Amino acid sequence: MQISDGASQMKIVIESSIQELVSKALRRVSENWRVDEWENAVTNPVSVENVLNEPHRLVDFEDEDGKRWAIIMPAEPGKIFIMDYHQHIDEISSYAGGAISGPDSQSNTDDMISIIVTGDEKIGLLELRIVHELLHGLNLPADDLAENADMAFKPHIRFLYNILKFFGLRPEHTSFFQRRYYRWLLESR
Ligand SMILES: [Zn+2]
Repeated sequence: MQISDGASQMKIVIESSIQELVSKALRRVSENWRVDEWENAVTNPVSVENVLNEPHRLVDFEDEDGKRWAIIMPAEPGKIFIMDYHQHIDEISSYAGGAISGPDSQSNTDDMISIIVTGDEKIGLLELRIVHELLHGLNLPADDLAENADMAFKPHIRFLYNILKFFGLRPEHTSFFQRRYYRWLLESR
C-alpha cells in the first residue's frame, strides 16, 4: 500500500452538533469506498465546536447557473470542514458542499473542501455528498456525470439513464446513478 505524504495530511474536521449523523456517514464511506488517499481522514476525523475557530476563509463563488454562493473554507491545505448549516446561517448559503483546487492541481494536499449538513439528510445521501467532495480532492471530475454517462455506465444502466433523460427526469441528480458514476471514476483512474 502506497500512501503519499499529502494523503496522510488530509484531515476531516466535523462540528460537534452534527457529529453523530456525520460519523455514521463516514463509517459508510470507509466501508463502501476504500480509497488509500482518504482512508485516514475518514476514519480519524477531528471534532470541533465551530469551524470558525479554525483557520478559515469566507469564499464567494458563482455556480454554472450564475448563482452566487457564500461558503466557509478551511485556510489550511488538506483540511476538510464538515459544518452544521444551522450554526452558520449568517455566513453561508444553503449549499451541499464545495471544493477549491489549490495552485498545484496535481496534488490533493492544497485543495480546500467544505461540506454543509442540515441534519435532515438520509445517511446514504450524506455518504455520497462526502464522497463527491473527496473525489474533487483527488481531482476527479465529480460534477461531470452527464458528460461521461456513455462511458461510465454498462449498457443496461445506460439504457435506463437515457430513458429517464428522455422524459426530463434529470437522472444525473439521483443517487442511483451518482453512486455508479463515482465508482467508475475511482476504478478507471
Ligand atoms: Zn462538485
